[in-house]
Formats: sequence, C-alpha cells, structure tokens
Amino acid sequence: MTKKELTEYIKSEALRLGFTVCGIAKAEAVPGDVIAGYDSWIEAGKHGTMHYLQRNCDKRFDPMRLVEGCKSIIVAAMNYAPEKEVNGIAWYATGSDYHKVIKDRLYLLLQSINSVQKAIGRPFCDSAPVLERYWAMRAGLGWIARNRQLTIKGKGSCFFIGELLIDIELDYDRPTEKSYCGECRKCIDRCPTRALSEEGFDARKCLSYLTIEYRGELPENIGEKMKKTFYGCDCCIKACPHNRFSEPTRIAEFKAKEELLSMKTADWEELTKERYDTLFADSAVERCGYEQLMRNIKAIKSDNGKSL
Ligand code: SF4
Ligand code: SF4
Repeated sequence: MTKKELTEYIKSEALRLGFTVCGIAKAEAVPGDVIAGYDSWIEAGKHGTMHYLQRNCDKRFDPMRLVEGCKSIIVAAMNYAPEKEVNGIAWYATGSDYHKVIKDRLYLLLQSINSVQKAIGRPFCDSAPVLERYWAMRAGLGWIARNRQLTIKGKGSCFFIGELLIDIELDYDRPTEKSYCGECRKCIDRCPTRALSEEGFDARKCLSYLTIEYRGELPENIGEKMKKTFYGCDCCIKACPHNRFSEPTRIAEFKAKEELLSMKTADWEELTKERYDTLFADSAVERCGYEQLMRNIKAIKSDNGKSL
C-alpha cells in the first residue's frame, strides 16, 4: 500500500469501527505557547486537587516519550449524545465506561493496520498524559471551543476522543485553525458557578470537578447550583448552539441502560451500595464511588430544601 492508500484505509477502518470522524497529526513536540498556557493554568492552581495533571509533563508535551519511535497520532472521535437522558447524570456517563470502549476499538484499529502493514502502536483515552483536545485540533477534527470542548463543525461536541500513537508515517490532516465560537458567550452565561468566564476555565469551581474528582466536603450551598444533577454537569454543553447538530449515538455501549432510565427520585435518595454496584458496574460513574455520589445527592436535597 502507498502512504496515501494506508492513510485512507486507516480512516475508513476507524469509521467502520464506529468512530464518527478520524484525523491524523504528525507526532512532534507540543509548541512553547501551548506549554506556557498549560503551565500558567497549573501555576494558578486552577486544576484543584487533580495533581496528576502536574505530573509526567515531559510525556505530555512530547508524544515520542510516550511511544518510542512514534511518528503519527491518529485521533478518532465517537459520539455519545444520548437518545434519552438519565435524571441526575451527565450525558457522557450514562453508558458503559468510555475509557474501555474507546481503547478496545483503537486496539481493533491497530489490528486492522497490522493486517496490511507491520506497526507498533499504543491507544489512549483519557488515561495518560496526552493533550487530547490539542491533538484532535492538530488532526483537523475541530476546534477547542470556549467551553473547553473539542467541537466538530456540523456535529457538535458530544464526543469521546481517543488516540492511537503509532510508529509509521502517514499523510497528515490540516490542523483546525479557526474557532467557530465567534461572538457567542452562551456557555459562559449558562455556567452556574462561573467556572467558565472571560478569563478562561477554573476547574475548582466546576460542578463536574466538584461532583466527580473532588473528594472533600462540597462548598456551602453548592446544591442550589447543581439543580438536579448529582454526577457531572452538562450546562455548557447544552448551552452550545453547535450541539443542535448532535444526533443520538448509534454505539450500543453508550446507550443508557433501562434500569438507569427507570430510576426515580426516591430510588436515588435511597440508593444502597448494593444497588449502586449493580447499576454502575462497567460505568464511568464508578470513578466517583458510592459515598461521594450520596454526598452529592444529599447536597442537592439539603441546599434546595426539597427532593431531587
Ligand atoms: S461543566 Fe458546568 S460548572 Fe463546569 S464549566 Fe461547564 S457549565 Fe460550568
Ligand atoms: S456556547 Fe458559544 S461560546 Fe460556548 S462553546 Fe458553544 S459556540 Fe462557543
């Protein structure tokens, strides 16, 4: 196969495996201005208790340190937009754990590549120091929008991103240089905690961070801002006009389980550890843990003076 044929084959295989879009970037060190932006965000402490974001920066800024001999970064995005919402849980988390689903498919992609050309590669999905949205932008998938989401023109931002770092040279896509946010500020206006502002993003104030990553006591009266969502927050995603192009996912693993869809307010308030384990086996919600999920549910109830 020529380089061009192999590149086209990889992209068509990615679509066959269920990815909505696939692009390829040349593996090279991340430029200084991107590193400086990242470093100043960390120095300002806006990452809160996510200390892992401070570690492995040598690898984060140089993909060749993650995979020796890496020449190309194949970036693929898979749609998670829900057909039906589960009360209380962010859209992305109502199906199976995306880390595993995406990585499994990237392994299949690697297998397909190896069936036509010997290659060494390693898949990643939100589990290693990879600047995922940056590489998605470099691979021409879309732009990093004001709400921090990778947004794909004509498709919206309800996508998981996965990367396959590989030691073969391919044809590279043109990076997305334009933002299609324009003068819009809807995500900023709709952010309930001002985590998003003209100054950028402060994870410490973000409901997604507070309900999932943060292990301590929740700030006072935060339940009022959470409204009824006790795992994550979709406000800045729902506010974005580009998501009017979202279509419900066709990936079976990302469709919400019937037992989750049927959960009523009282069921959540009386959730036992046993039920939690059954509901969230093989789910990203496991990251939060039972006690923390109940902490969130209680915050909504006590701060709103009523049920969920
Ligand atoms: S997820 Fe919610 S709290 Fe976090 S930035 Fe978006 S709107 Fe704000
Ligand atoms: S809501 Fe508007 S500003 Fe925010 S990400 Fe979407 S288009 Fe950009």
